[in-house]
Amino acid sequence: MRTDRTFTMLKPDSVEKGHVGAILEKITASGFRIVAMKLTQMTTADAQEFYAVHNERPFFGELVEYMTRGPIVAAILEKDNAVEDFRTLIGATNPADAADGTIRKLYAASIGENAVHGSDSDENSAIEGAFHFSGREMF
Ligand code: UDP
Ligand code: MG
Repeated sequence: MRTDRTFTMLKPDSVEKGHVGAILEKITASGFRIVAMKLTQMTTADAQEFYAVHNERPFFGELVEYMTRGPIVAAILEKDNAVEDFRTLIGATNPADAADGTIRKLYAASIGENAVHGSDSDENSAIEGAFHFSGREMF
């Protein structure tokens, strides 16, 4: 299992607010190489599958609505220790708890609309990357 890749989504709020360029600049300035990237929109079935681990949670319906309401930027990022370092860069799920300088502190509006996704393990990084990209789209 490789440990140098993670998967991210710049969520619909980031695209709507025009934060894509600033967030990508922060990601690459932090040492991540973009190895796959596209603008795409998840269907309801896509979001239900992607977030299936949360399907019993009270926020699941809202999460699916939010993640499907507009396009996202999906990307695979490469760096040593990618999963952990990217979670540090994005900050806590709730922007109120996120450290200064993190992407969620800078760009997230709330615990629900929190600007970015980051994989939580090497295993999920591989699953999530393959959910969005074919082998021919990874470089
Ligand atoms: N979420 C929410 N309410 C909560 C917790 C999570 O709306 O109380 C949303 C939020 O968009 C979050 C996503 O569900 O990013 C997935 O939750 P998770 O706990 O996996 O947080 P993450 O890994 O994104 O920090
Ligand atoms: Mg998570």
